[in-house]
Amino acid sequence: MSDFGPGMVWLVGAGPGDPELLTRKAERLIRSATVVFHDALVGAGILALVPPGVRLVSVGKRSGRHSKDQRTIDALIVEAALAGERVVRLKGGDPAVFGRATEELDACRGAGIRVRICPGVTAACAAAADLGLSLTLRGLARRLTFVTAHARAGEELALDWSALADPQATLAIYMGKAAAKVVSASLIAAGLDPATPVALVENASLPGERHFVTRLDLLPLAARTALGEGPALILVGQALAGLAGSMQATSAEVLAAETASIG
Ligand code: SAH
Repeated sequence: MSDFGPGMVWLVGAGPGDPELLTRKAERLIRSATVVFHDALVGAGILALVPPGVRLVSVGKRSGRHSKDQRTIDALIVEAALAGERVVRLKGGDPAVFGRATEELDACRGAGIRVRICPGVTAACAAAADLGLSLTLRGLARRLTFVTAHARAGEELALDWSALADPQATLAIYMGKAAAKVVSASLIAAGLDPATPVALVENASLPGERHFVTRLDLLPLAARTALGEGPALILVGQALAGLAGSMQATSAEVLAAETASIG
């Protein structure tokens, strides 16, 4: 195949989990690879498309449980390509959104290896689809910001909160579960209305999908009590206003719940 010769690498977006959300191109590349290196977030339904006999290597990274560091992954990909394999590097969602794609592109290019990207459906779009709403809203939500709330080990989360606290923006917060308290407090301190609607979507596009609608000041409570072990995306902004109601509570109720959970 002309766009996938031996010694070439494709960074392929696996989408949010539902195999039907793979692009046709992604599926073709997966079927013509000789080796597939995949993330932990790439689920069984997608890995089932890898033909028997193709080497399938998990290089999974889940927060706090890094099984292979990024340099090791880069080296594995380069080594396989230099050995003449057709390499698929299968990544959750879209490879170019919080996917460490740059490191892998640089490693391949530095070794003289042809490398290309096949895009995928990113988690924010899958979450909006599950919620049945638009992330942008004429006149109300004019900006869509993809942001990660994941700090490097040992570092504090350093985000420009005043820029993020824009009432006309929708924030799609990746890797935000652990930082929900900081996110909520910092956005409110930067001026965003505590009643701003928030949605948490866990396992978007998958059979175990769950979502919760709350408000910004209640986000920490919801993240702590409502979410399970699956990947979760946090959406913040007026674009979510139409959903309000399913998990509403007053600040007094939250206070009571917080107190109860401490005591
Ligand atoms: N490249 C990926 C993002 C990788 S960062 C993409 O484009 O989607 C990993 C984070 O993505 C998770 O912590 C979570 O916030 C989000 N995520 C990935 N898959 C998800 C899913 N099925 N449902 C909800 N959030 C998801």
